Amino acid sequence: MQRQDVQLRFKWKTEDIFTDDKAWEEEFSSLEEKYTRMDFSRYENGFADKSVLLEYLRTTEDFSRRIEKLYVYAHMRKDEDVRVSKYAAYASKSMTLYSQIAAKTAFAEPALTVLPEETLDGYIADPDFAAYEYSLRRVKKSKPHVLSAKEEGLLSLAADVMGGFHDTFTMLDNANLNLPKATLDGEEVQMSHALYALAMRGTDRAVRKEWFEKYYEAYTKLIDAITQTYHGNVKKDMFFAQAKKYDGCMQMALAGEDVSPVVYENLLSSVEKGLPTLHRYVRLRKKALGLEEQHMYDMSVPLVDGAEISLPFDEAFDLVKRGLAPLGEEYLTLFEKARQEGWIDVYETEGKRNGAYCTGAYDTHPYVLLNYQRTTHEVFTIAHEMGHAMHSYFSNRTQPYEKANYTIFLAEIASTVNEVLLLKYLSKTTEDENLKKYLLGYYLEMVRTTLFRQTQFAEFEQKAHALAESGVPLTKENLCDAYLALNKKYYGDGVVHDSQIAYEWARIPHFYNSFYVYKYATGIISAMSIVRRILTEGEEALAAYFRFLSSGGRTDPVTILQEAGVDLTTAKPFENAMQEFAETLQEFEKMF
Ligand SMILES: [Zn+2]
Repeated sequence: MQRQDVQLRFKWKTEDIFTDDKAWEEEFSSLEEKYTRMDFSRYENGFADKSVLLEYLRTTEDFSRRIEKLYVYAHMRKDEDVRVSKYAAYASKSMTLYSQIAAKTAFAEPALTVLPEETLDGYIADPDFAAYEYSLRRVKKSKPHVLSAKEEGLLSLAADVMGGFHDTFTMLDNANLNLPKATLDGEEVQMSHALYALAMRGTDRAVRKEWFEKYYEAYTKLIDAITQTYHGNVKKDMFFAQAKKYDGCMQMALAGEDVSPVVYENLLSSVEKGLPTLHRYVRLRKKALGLEEQHMYDMSVPLVDGAEISLPFDEAFDLVKRGLAPLGEEYLTLFEKARQEGWIDVYETEGKRNGAYCTGAYDTHPYVLLNYQRTTHEVFTIAHEMGHAMHSYFSNRTQPYEKANYTIFLAEIASTVNEVLLLKYLSKTTEDENLKKYLLGYYLEMVRTTLFRQTQFAEFEQKAHALAESGVPLTKENLCDAYLALNKKYYGDGVVHDSQIAYEWARIPHFYNSFYVYKYATGIISAMSIVRRILTEGEEALAAYFRFLSSGGRTDPVTILQEAGVDLTTAKPFENAMQEFAETLQEFEKMF
């Protein structure tokens, strides 16, 4: 389909950002003119003076808001048809201007950090700085970890040298892995990471076994090089944690999002309590698949064949709305507005970027890009991406610019809340037994892969870093042993822990971005907990959820969630999520 053949109401209205390209170009020139000429040096030594700092913050805010709009328009137009180079040029012009101004204002953060604590406290308490108060609190928090200018200079030189472990891993994982050929659909094909995932979901067990063995054999051959690379990455973390005076690698990584290690420890210990239910699920899989022995290569096969909800877009959208009814009138009205007023770009057309995402700038409404097909997965994509859109809308409307953006820690909660609500609604209302089975299975797999599996990874990272920090060098033996022990702990006795699985850690790219994956787990736990509360406690829980949706990044993420009724420093949300999982499992068990 060509873009011009799509009805207007199924296309996003970029005119809401700029009426046309001419308007974009005028705004770009005016912004460039103003800011590339601006002399920022006059601010450089002036932050001790309130009016200077305030003027600086307002100036850079104006720049950020305007460049954001320019960039968003450019990338949206580019994604409508990636073959058109005009908008790629717009996007890169915006990026260049952004980098220019970022370079000119690079002095600001260090200059703020060296302000005396009393001065910072004064600003933080000053209502004129209300919009910037959280950023200033973070500056204050970072003070003990900022070294002298000379030392910071050395550290940034070192960062350049030590930043390569992820690249080395990527190189090993792709160029050097030497995957052989294997059987798929009766043919010999060249193995790849993408096809491996496909083969693992396939119904032919002999194929799964072959792929599993060959895949891990390739990693076994590279294990010395991968161990060295990972060890190097952990030592890098240790170097920076020590240099920047953090208590450890985890503390340093979590400080990046202003999260306390208590949350991490709590995640590991609380999920551990839920493991017997995961073991039960693993045993059910074995029974449902009719296996004498279940192996790790049986773990990703869907228990139920695809049951497709095949609906035209408008009907799918209405269905999603019905599923989200517990979120109340205000939410649904806005949801409908998004469809009516051109927030969504619905159909796949020639040249359009694939996949789905939510975008937008602070001064525009959110936008959602879809490539809608009539499948169950796509119905959930509507719910998911619109969850992001609603979160952004409420946050932008409620918070000042500086506080509107939510961090990664919070980013997937609203989208997951929508998915879970829709899953529960559909599995309750459908009369199609197979669809119900499929949906419950989908939910359980989502919990296994996002909640449990990511926590397993998080625990591995914690163990590996703790080992290294206690002075023990990381070896292929201690890493593989630690991973195998975790696999046994998480999956229990319903599965044979094939020796190859000890090498799984060696193929996870996320481990080169330390202490990151735990956010996937806390995200789904928060979402499941929120849904449970909304469905069982009603009004008050809903009001708390709206506080969350409207909070953006006004303070640290754990506090934002606490005020929305999800206290990740306690066991409650974890228990809620586990109960939710256990009940879904119970319902699922009855169907086999
Ligand atoms: Zn998402």
